[in-house]
Amino acid sequence: MAGVAIITEACIAVKDRACVDVCPVQCIYEYNPTTNRLESEEQAGSGIVENEHTPNVDAIAIFSDSILYVNLDECTSCTACYQPDVCPVGAIYAEEHVPDGTPTIKYNTTDPNKGHDHTFFVEQSRAVFAD
Ligand code: SF4
Ligand code: SF4
Repeated sequence: MAGVAIITEACIAVKDRACVDVCPVQCIYEYNPTTNRLESEEQAGSGIVENEHTPNVDAIAIFSDSILYVNLDECTSCTACYQPDVCPVGAIYAEEHVPDGTPTIKYNTTDPNKGHDHTFFVEQSRAVFAD
């Protein structure tokens, strides 16, 4: 669906959850290593889990809990989270506007802090959710 939100590498280690606060459907998830679940809070920092999913083991191992994940099946493309005043590091894009970096350098999964192709995160957003 056009306009679904993709979170890219700039979120890594920042993860201030500003996007969580503006999402009306709680479809932005954080991985909880303790429960081994992807969890979305009804409000950022509330500790009250609104929705949860099982992670795909291989996909979640790449970034674990260092970044947030949008469930693309639940995102309504409302546009709220990728308005310019929401994410402090510009990590969120509408799917059709995700920059692809250079055509020859692909995302380096051995060094998650030095990505080059943000389109990696389009597939990664889908891959982390096992259900
Ligand atoms: S607002 Fe940006 S940096 Fe903050 S959690 Fe969301 S994607 Fe990450
Ligand atoms: S586009 Fe809207 S529904 Fe989708 S993740 Fe962002 S705030 Fe949530």
